[in-house]
Amino acid sequence: MKTENEIITFERAMKLSRKESTELFGRYVNHTLASLLKLANSDMRFSRADGIYLYDEDDQPYMDFTAGYGALNLGHNPKEVIEAVHQAQKLPAVLLVGFNPLLGALGKTLASILPGDLSVSIFGSGGAEAVENAMKTARASTGRQKFVSCKNGYHGLTFGALSVCGSKSFRKTVAPLLKHCELIPFGDLQALEEALQSEDVAAFIVEPVQGEGGAVVPPNGYLKGAAELCKKYGTLLVFDEIQTGFGRTGKMFAMEHDHVIPDIVTLSKSLGSGVVPISVSVTSEKVWMNAFGSRDKFDLTISTFAGNSAACAAALKTIEILQRDGTHDHASALGDYARDRLQWLKTKHELIKEIHGRGLLLGIELETTGPFSKTMEQNLSVMIISELLHKHNILTSYFDFSPTVIRFEPPLIVTTEQIDEAVDALDKVLSMGKKGIAMSFGKTAIASILHH
Ligand code: PLP
Repeated sequence: MKTENEIITFERAMKLSRKESTELFGRYVNHTLASLLKLANSDMRFSRADGIYLYDEDDQPYMDFTAGYGALNLGHNPKEVIEAVHQAQKLPAVLLVGFNPLLGALGKTLASILPGDLSVSIFGSGGAEAVENAMKTARASTGRQKFVSCKNGYHGLTFGALSVCGSKSFRKTVAPLLKHCELIPFGDLQALEEALQSEDVAAFIVEPVQGEGGAVVPPNGYLKGAAELCKKYGTLLVFDEIQTGFGRTGKMFAMEHDHVIPDIVTLSKSLGSGVVPISVSVTSEKVWMNAFGSRDKFDLTISTFAGNSAACAAALKTIEILQRDGTHDHASALGDYARDRLQWLKTKHELIKEIHGRGLLLGIELETTGPFSKTMEQNLSVMIISELLHKHNILTSYFDFSPTVIRFEPPLIVTTEQIDEAVDALDKVLSMGKKGIAMSFGKTAIASILHH
């Protein structure tokens, strides 16, 4: 840190203080994010993590109700997954001539847990990469160019994924993006039919439950209706289950609530339990063969780290644990419990407008009409989140495209006692009223400026 040309060793990096970590991140990674976190006194330096808990420099525990936005369904650092990754370290880590011996096993395992004929996998590392692969597959298979997706839908931030992103403000900074992309309201079948009837749409890309849109469940029958319309007009249906997959909504996959099978599904996040990044776009043999089944096309699905040994090991072990422990059933029961408790909170506090979501992908929408300016009201969630973090040791956040909706998204291994603890903490914070929350946040911000 002393001079520009000095490297920081791994050993030293592991010991950096909170202040040093924030400074380095701000200077060398993302200045704006560092400043914002610092202002809310939220530039925490967690030293270790285990299950639902994060531990700060003084080894104080914090419950994590963000779970890597769906990447930590089994909690932080699940031991069995880490052990599997260690064991796989005997294998070649990356092998581009030939293939990793675990890769076929993972493909077969995914085909076994996915419904219908979803059976051929294109692997990658991040969620957005899976979306890119789904978009490529759809174009290559249909020979069509256009994509339709939903307002407030989130699919990642690479160019293709951003092109179908449901937020104008996210798209405009790097425009122009892909041409021929149309956004329609989520849950609106008439709008979908109007968008598809020109018969030039390669794929309709949709989350079965919108995550970053604010944990939004579509109206009954929407996904089934969407599948029928896609079939009628020759469009492929892509379900983005990157956040909803692997038990998050109370079924292994959110599409199972509606008994609808898409042509392509994208998965990532909890597939590697957060231990190793991995993503996949899975389709039927027919669609894959149409798209890539020839000598001149098959290697359009290749990427250096796709299906590396560590990622495959993490994914195989994660799926084994999820199945063995019936994690999705636990998420379903605990999701119902959490929802009931949050609904009770809503009857107590006018500050809660609505409870959204399914399973343990829940959102608490705040009432943002009130005594403050519009900007203040919009930032109420930030103040509540800060209060939960600093006074109650609970980490949460808001949804990226719905800043007035607080995320209630713990690892699926959460217990009823931990849910009670979080709900009680929220009860206490909301009991302070908007003015009390704002004043407390002001003090936290001042304290943080002094601290730094
Ligand atoms: N799709 C959905 C539904 C997501 O929630 C996310 C990330 O939150 C992504 C795609 C993008 O994943 P990644 O951030 O790994 O690129």
